Amino acid sequence: MSTESVSTRVDNRDQVLYAQKGPATLTEMSSHDIAAALQQTNVILLPFGATEAHGAHLPLGTDTMEAREICRRTAIRLAEQNCPVVIGPVIPFGTSNFHLDYPGTVSVKPETLIALIRDICMSLYKSGFRNFVFIHGHDGSLPSMMVGAQNLVEETPEAQAIILNWLTPLSKVYGTIQQSKKSEGHGGEGETARLLVTHPELVHPERSEAFHVEPDEMRKLQGPEHIKTGGAIFYSTRKYPNYYIGTPQLAKVETGEKGYAVIVDWVSMVIQRDFFGHQG
Ligand SMILES: [Zn+2]
Repeated sequence: MSTESVSTRVDNRDQVLYAQKGPATLTEMSSHDIAAALQQTNVILLPFGATEAHGAHLPLGTDTMEAREICRRTAIRLAEQNCPVVIGPVIPFGTSNFHLDYPGTVSVKPETLIALIRDICMSLYKSGFRNFVFIHGHDGSLPSMMVGAQNLVEETPEAQAIILNWLTPLSKVYGTIQQSKKSEGHGGEGETARLLVTHPELVHPERSEAFHVEPDEMRKLQGPEHIKTGGAIFYSTRKYPNYYIGTPQLAKVETGEKGYAVIVDWVSMVIQRDFFGHQG
């Protein structure tokens, strides 16, 4: 990465870095707005992001931006189906310990995340929310999200929670929506394409070379077999040069849009079915 590109980002302090479309999350709403929304719904979507390295071509907040965008699009879709929801505060930290060797990564321990989930959800429960949807931008947080949901339901029998791992439906169509025939994972073609949809100003594919791992290695890292079966493997990635996998240069807005469409179709369907009692 050139020093010029770094200084440009640091010095242009008074410029708009990127635009954020609505609907607003709880962060941008007033307490009165929430009280009014609670007259319509007790369903809240919680975006779980992360602050972790994704190569030189993507910002550290990539997963946070993706989680927010999934919630944003889902809220719009559900409103169209007469299923109103509120989007909760975006949680910018996840368990990203395997990226800690890369500067800027901020990781919270599973115990910390579980405690944070408890405090956030108990606060929202006091406000009147009863149905919680946890949406990840970073699958490394899924185990803690599950424990957090289990604790919430134990502590507040009126609460229900669902955790939506959209990597499952998305992994089934990777081969049809991505151009690459090689392994694409964290920071690869698909993820770069999704960020290109929302934050083109922050995406710089020219700053990263293609980087691939052997198929067996890839399977261990984030193999569809594990995702599809709900299993998981924990594996150190510290030997990689600035951990990302794939060909960011192949990313296109259309690919990102197709990815979001698959994710939002599935996430909206499950929320409608489980919390509103009907199919879309
Ligand atoms: Zn990511």
